[in-house]
Amino acid sequence: MTADLPARIAAGDRRALARGITLVESTLAADRVAAEDLITALLPRTGGALRVGVSGPPGVGKSTFIESFGLHLVAGGRRLAVLAVDPSSRISGGSILGDKTRMSALAQHPSAYIRPTPAGDQLGGVARHTREAILLCEAAGFDMVLVETVGVGQSETAVVDMTDFLVLLAQPGGGDDLQGIKRGIVELADLVLVTKSDGELAAAAGRAAADHQSALHLLHGPEAAPVLLVSGLTGAGIAEAAAALDALQAKAAASGRLAGKRAGQAISWLRSELVQQVVEWLAQDPALAAGLAAAERAVAAGRALPSAAARRLVREGLRMGGDSR
Ligand code: GDP
Repeated sequence: MTADLPARIAAGDRRALARGITLVESTLAADRVAAEDLITALLPRTGGALRVGVSGPPGVGKSTFIESFGLHLVAGGRRLAVLAVDPSSRISGGSILGDKTRMSALAQHPSAYIRPTPAGDQLGGVARHTREAILLCEAAGFDMVLVETVGVGQSETAVVDMTDFLVLLAQPGGGDDLQGIKRGIVELADLVLVTKSDGELAAAAGRAAADHQSALHLLHGPEAAPVLLVSGLTGAGIAEAAAALDALQAKAAASGRLAGKRAGQAISWLRSELVQQVVEWLAQDPALAAGLAAAERAVAAGRALPSAAARRLVREGLRMGGDSR
């Protein structure tokens, strides 16, 4: 890390921001230390953005919506960063990042910043560097950070742990089967947007919205997430969606719920880092790494109880006085 990187990021220099995000994505041990120093230096400048997860299955209209929504926000003087996370691409082979034409008008706007996040080996790694990228975007002065994920179930849960609100996109023609609700995902949403509410699809979109709204009312009563109709193509409902998010933010900020949620997220981030770092610490020492591998085989074969094996490994590590870096 060059010495002036924090100052350049704080000044809103996009190339510096890109370098900072590359640093947090790096898996090299030396880069990890530099990334932590960088974010620590910028920490007082973080926390100022509304953090919003945007999720939905492939083809639902995420990129079309984000482009339209983002252009609406920047026209109103807001500064928007979009982090596109794709933990599923390794499995499916398809990537939300592959298509260079995605959000091209928004990408060129001086008040917007779009950053694809490469798929990590594990959701934990993606979650760590996305959380850190959010902080860097805040330090660079963005007042809204959208974290886009493909709806594969796991990714919504990860995104809920790092954002203030989850916006779920659903499409018309899903019928009344309410797939999302069956998977328990719609329950996580703070706002549901039914996309493609235009032309021939408008009537079906209206029916899908009514279905979702009544199902959510059954689950959550008057506190149910609002369901709105949008079209990324015509721009219909986009201003209303932005207003709905602002209303959610105002309400959660006034009640103290937003601050409480962020504090809880920071604590669970700490705990997941602890777990990850204990595993890394064990893996660094050849004898302990062999012990870990043996314990993994034993629990996989049903010969050992995971909690007992973990306790033994931690005790062994402490006894050997292993030093984590
Ligand atoms: P993503 O995979 O969720 O990012 O979806 P895309 O934004 O790439 O859109 C998938 C397909 O749906 C494309 O063919 C779009 O043209 C179409 N689409 C997206 N938004 C709308 C919309 O608001 N109205 C209509 N009619 N089609 C849309």
